[in-house]
Amino acid sequence: MSQAGHRIRREGMVRDLKSRKIRDPRVLEAMERVPRHLFVEGKLRQSRAYSEFALPIGEDQTISQPYIVARTTELLEIDSESSILEIGTGSGYHTAVLASLARRVYSLERIPSLAKGAIRRIQELGFGNVKIQIFDGTVGWSDVGPFDGILVLAGAPKAPAPLLDQLRLGGRLVIPEGSKERQVLVRYRRLEQGLERTELEPVTFVPLIGRHGWEA
Ligand code: SAH
Repeated sequence: MSQAGHRIRREGMVRDLKSRKIRDPRVLEAMERVPRHLFVEGKLRQSRAYSEFALPIGEDQTISQPYIVARTTELLEIDSESSILEIGTGSGYHTAVLASLARRVYSLERIPSLAKGAIRRIQELGFGNVKIQIFDGTVGWSDVGPFDGILVLAGAPKAPAPLLDQLRLGGRLVIPEGSKERQVLVRYRRLEQGLERTELEPVTFVPLIGRHGWEA
């Protein structure tokens, strides 16, 4: 398919996100720019890159459906000064969306082959504000914290304490909490008087595996 063909499909995806009540114009604009098809392989690239599907990216992992990418990004309330930590780089698609919005994005992935693919794609697209490392994200990345936003893209039994500790005052942590099979999206916000916790909609993510997550 031509670049123009991909762009037309991308515009369709964004119309669909609007009809699903994604409102933040900056998030919609970022998703209209980032070429999602470059993050999926083979036949899927032509047929499904811009539809509402989670897609396989190898190693039994998936790239989230566009709605989930948009919704979780919107909940982070990113601005152009934000420093963001992402756990679960996967293909790097969501990383690219975050990097279009924030000042800096730090991203951790535990599976080396996925991290390497993501690093290559992010470089090819010319993002200069992203650092990706192969590491257990449940311990966070204290050297470069604290963060304005932390986004966990795998399901956890509960929010890992080190991640909550690495939130700046006013900072937001968005994470799916629950069982290995299904979770609820939760947003934490660090306030002067402590942590505010808000439960949002039910979701399904692959498990967060690590020291403060599920066992491998
Ligand atoms: N956001 C990705 C998809 C995420 S799938 C995209 O846009 O493609 C969830 C990812 O979290 C998987 O790649 C999985 O390997 C990773 N993951 C699971 N537990 C992790 C941990 N403790 N630290 C870092 N990454 C983890």
